[in-house]
Amino acid sequence: MSGTARVLVVEDNPLNRELAEAILEMAGYETLSAADGEAALDAARTGQPDIILMDVDLPRLDGLEATRRLKGDPATEGIPVVALTAYAMAGDEERARAAGCDGYVTKPINRPSLLAAVTRALAQHAQEAPP
Ligand code: MN
Repeated sequence: MSGTARVLVVEDNPLNRELAEAILEMAGYETLSAADGEAALDAARTGQPDIILMDVDLPRLDGLEATRRLKGDPATEGIPVVALTAYAMAGDEERARAAGCDGYVTKPINRPSLLAAVTRALAQHAQEAPP
């Protein structure tokens, strides 16, 4: 990937969304944002993000269903998705992986964990699908 990676931040809580965007932008990423699952699908198709940070608990369409639809659409199936969840329950990461998520990070959002999850998913994706 050349240039700055573009991250689509999908999060319905405005404070969390702004925090994630601020952390990513300070680390040099470009950001797009969406506040619900339907808006996420639109933004993924039109905004050409390199990676998506996807809150699981979203209005209109939850993050796991939005991820299933993204992974089922040839236009968006290649975009890595990192699930963002408040749940630290057993089985939650497995559910995210089963829905097609490529990575996983838990809230509360913190800078090192968020950046590590995004960096890891981008690196894995670059290995799997060289340009
Ligand atoms: Mn939420």
